[in-house]
Amino acid sequence: MIIDVHNHPDWHGYDLNRFVANMDENGIDKTWLLSWESPNHEYNPIYIDLIPNPGPDGPISFARCLSYAERCPERFVLGYAPDPRQPFAVQKLRAAVEIYGVRVCGEIKLRMFLDNWDALDMYRYCGEAGLPVIVHLDYRLYSAGSNGAYHQDWWYGGAIENFANAIAACPETNFLGHSSGFWSHISGDDQYLTEFFGSGKVQPGGKLIAMLDKYPNLYCDISGGSGYSALKRDPEFARRFLIDYQDRVCYGRDYFDNIHQEFLNSLDLPQGVLDKIYYKNALKLVPL
Ligand SMILES: [Zn+2]
Repeated sequence: MIIDVHNHPDWHGYDLNRFVANMDENGIDKTWLLSWESPNHEYNPIYIDLIPNPGPDGPISFARCLSYAERCPERFVLGYAPDPRQPFAVQKLRAAVEIYGVRVCGEIKLRMFLDNWDALDMYRYCGEAGLPVIVHLDYRLYSAGSNGAYHQDWWYGGAIENFANAIAACPETNFLGHSSGFWSHISGDDQYLTEFFGSGKVQPGGKLIAMLDKYPNLYCDISGGSGYSALKRDPEFARRFLIDYQDRVCYGRDYFDNIHQEFLNSLDLPQGVLDKIYYKNALKLVPL
């Protein structure tokens, strides 16, 4: 069995039929289908090319996730993350859990520090309701070549410390970390300040490792180019990491290719480890 814990409806040109056919091609049984609700001024306009009809709720509304889940309930696990800064966010999420069967809170991808007070309220509700929380973290990157100005205007979530504060403040809530600002800390180097995807041998002392050791409620979402390249940059380290943290890593894509499976399958991991990454950890977080 394979569960993809991170994907989106109407994303990169895929409608429901293409999406399900693509899952079949790649042996994926179920997908966690995540919204991306945000104010329209808080996301990078490059995404306009990928999303046919962004509405007032942002690039990927919960309504689109619900449409897929209603038409094909056996293949999708319903996700929803309202913007926690909006009034009544917790009430909206609770209503969606009770009425529509939302099981996951995600994706939270906002120009907001992840330890925002209103967000903490939402995470605490997720802990009570048994929803894992998926967050997107990208630093504001600086470049020497841009006249000293920042060149990456589309930061999300803040620094890894903001995420750590949230995890510590909500011990009953399970979190999945995702994207470059999270995965760059697999390594103890400081590439996270300048590079979107780190490269080269992983250095000891990565903050992500320390957080996994400190917080049992932290999990890793390997989806996207970020999770992929963080593992791929040092396959020897990746193999050891995936074995050491086999109970805390989940397979996901955030896209429609098969690079993550190809890489995982190339590492000669024990079948028991692969089973946890491919579906058992996801089932632990969201029993079906
Ligand atoms: Zn995503």
